[in-house]
Amino acid sequence: MSLTLSLENRVALVTGGSRGIGKAVALELAARGAAVVVNYHKSPEAAGEVVQQIQAVGGKAAAFQADVSDTKQAEALVKFAVETFGDLSILVNNAGITRDQLIMMMPESDWDAVIDTNLKSTFNCSKAAVKHMMRKRYGRIVSIASVAGQMGNPGQTNYSASKAGQIGFTKALAREVAARNVTVNAVAPGFVDTEILDAMSPETLAAALKLVPLGRKGQPEEIAHAVAFLASDQAAYITGQVLGVDGGMAMM
Ligand code: NAP
Repeated sequence: MSLTLSLENRVALVTGGSRGIGKAVALELAARGAAVVVNYHKSPEAAGEVVQQIQAVGGKAAAFQADVSDTKQAEALVKFAVETFGDLSILVNNAGITRDQLIMMMPESDWDAVIDTNLKSTFNCSKAAVKHMMRKRYGRIVSIASVAGQMGNPGQTNYSASKAGQIGFTKALAREVAARNVTVNAVAPGFVDTEILDAMSPETLAAALKLVPLGRKGQPEEIAHAVAFLASDQAAYITGQVLGVDGGMAMM
């Protein structure tokens, strides 16, 4: 029995791996031995730094630009992972944005941007990845959802719907692919210390943190640990689940 959580010989793809939670996930999976494709959209330098950080300690990584809300670009991204490292065993659907506004003021374009970036991307990348994983009879898909998808947040009808959608998607796909030894799970973070929180005023954030039993924001690395576990062989009997990493905010 192995006492370490090893991802040796695994190939991982992290969407939105250039910053925030995705960056921490990419570094964590690489530290455990996986070769990692770091996807980015608008931050080539940040993605390059993540790749360099992994390679500097002897790990394997490559960056790839793709807007994962676009089906063709998502397919090209998955193809790149398989061609570059010869496999794709772990997919982390992490790319996400917010466009917060009360519904009466929310333009249709902000609804579409959030649903496409957060939810359609999950469909796009999972569909392309699962074809390969089912053939190989091995796969781990982990999507980064949110407490917003479980509890709902005022000003975030678009974001909450996209995250609740990811959760439903996770459960349905888990049932579809379980027989091929592919597991599909979600992690639901609470408030995590990344640039995405810059859209919240300090007052709103302070009020929100009062709802967190552990009384603080989470760190990206704390999400990455949960993802690494769900991506590991130790989590082989876990599928269709939503693991809250939220300081106790949403006890479902
Ligand atoms: P972040 O710091 O703003 O980083 C977002 C990442 O997504 C960046 O790497 C960005 O890439 C990438 N991205 C955005 N649009 C993309 C697209 N169309 N195609 C490919 N990549 C795209 O956000 P974060 O806080 O780390 O959030 C990561 C995930 O965790 C999101 O799904 C978010 O909803 C979820 N989450 C975050 C929190 C939190 O409190 N931070 C809480 C719950 C859930 P570029 O920089 O290259 O554009």
